[in-house]
Amino acid sequence: MPAHDASLTAEAHDRRRLLMERSRPGRTGVSLPASDVPEQKLPDPSLLRTSLDLPEVTEGEVVRYFTHLSQLNFSVDTHFYPLGSCTMKYNPRFNEAMAGLAGFASAHPQQPERQVQGAIEVMYRLQELLAEVTGMEAVSLAPLAGAQGELAGMLTIRAALEGRGEGHRRKMLIPDTAHGTNPASAAMAGFGVVSVPSNADGNIDLDALRAEADGDLAGIMLTQPTTLGLFDRNAVEMCRIVHEAGGLVYGDGANMNALLGRVKLGDLDFDVVHLNLHKTFSTPHGGGGPGAGPICTNATLTPFLPGPVAVRRDSGAYGLEMPPKSIGRVGGFAGNFGVLVRAFTYITLLGGQGMLDISGNAVLNANYLLVMLRELYDLPFDRRVMHEVVFSAKKRPGANALNVSKRLLDHGFHAPTMYFPLVVAEALMIEPTETESKETLDAFIEALTAIDAEAARDVASLNEAPSETPVSRLDEAAAARHPQLRWQRNG
Ligand SMILES: *Cc1c(COP(=O)(O)O)cnc(C)c1O
Repeated sequence: MPAHDASLTAEAHDRRRLLMERSRPGRTGVSLPASDVPEQKLPDPSLLRTSLDLPEVTEGEVVRYFTHLSQLNFSVDTHFYPLGSCTMKYNPRFNEAMAGLAGFASAHPQQPERQVQGAIEVMYRLQELLAEVTGMEAVSLAPLAGAQGELAGMLTIRAALEGRGEGHRRKMLIPDTAHGTNPASAAMAGFGVVSVPSNADGNIDLDALRAEADGDLAGIMLTQPTTLGLFDRNAVEMCRIVHEAGGLVYGDGANMNALLGRVKLGDLDFDVVHLNLHKTFSTPHGGGGPGAGPICTNATLTPFLPGPVAVRRDSGAYGLEMPPKSIGRVGGFAGNFGVLVRAFTYITLLGGQGMLDISGNAVLNANYLLVMLRELYDLPFDRRVMHEVVFSAKKRPGANALNVSKRLLDHGFHAPTMYFPLVVAEALMIEPTETESKETLDAFIEALTAIDAEAARDVASLNEAPSETPVSRLDEAAAARHPQLRWQRNG
């Protein structure tokens, strides 16, 4: 029971009752017609339950209960959600409608190609669009998530190195700001991970890179923009150094909001790049899926792409094929097709000017927050940012990323990403996205200003936050280790 129950109104208390607590003998939510089929014999009684502890409630109570539960959560549809590196932007409903069209939603992956030409054409045209967006030669839509795209990309690099008789190259460099999936993907693909530091500007440290660029070098994984929300100005030189040493360059393009229509990673000389369609290209995420993490390659790596990829045959018909030296399949069938339809709709509808508007507004919004909050919160890398800005909450003694984030919930905002990237102490990583208005950003600034004033006045009170949410401070370790996933009468 939450600590604040005493202050609840009777009505609020009533709405919190669990379904089981609402149960009254004999109440029912369904009325079944009399059976019009012959009765069947039940299995042996030893296999049957004698009682089943189900709530006895009316349909109306069930609807009210679950609707209320659904409203206890934060979502992009109800709240500003500045979760850095996640791009929790508003996604147009029109994309949902297109993904739901019967010809797409009801297509079966085992149908013969001639019956699903339209669906394969969407995949083909999306590949072309993503190749254009990234400045790369070819695209595979097969990976089902960003992390899976990374693994697939790592495997193409490994296959290419082995193909040229350099399979002994096993060193994969990863900057210290990288998303945790990067070292995990490299290790899963059989590489040894070596961390490379960032310099005082937040760019990759080129001297440290040169020291590692030897005959064992397989490649490097660089996130651009970096997880500090910065455009790594050393990227071109980094590619040159790695290529000269015989390695290949992986670009983590999970967060493309700031670069759309302005910078192509292919032009910077990356060899393979993944995109997160469920961040930049309009599939809502945060609930654990489905997603899509297409990878885009230059000519060196294209033959190794995971399959299937959509092709247009000489006859003009579309088909799905495995690339000649493919690393194989990374999932069932042809990827998360609904996610692909949303991305295709989104890009086609917005067009080139729309892409420029996204990146322009994403960068403007992040820099607006930077300028308005820089006096209150530490800015470890004092530079113009891209799609997000990383502050440190440690400026006020006693204030930290956790208690500031928890208090933000009371002000009606989802918390930013905290304690990441690891190179920033008490990191608050804030990504406003392009779809938020100035009024929303101003309200958010006002909340963070009030929290800073609270920290100055009585920092201990911050540790009590949140107090306005349905439950207050949770024991997160216990919640993860001993989750209570179902109601038990005595549990
Ligand atoms: C989100 C993210 C990933 C991983 O994407 P998933 O779809 O969650 O696997 C990788 N790198 C960066 C920089 C990200 O922000």
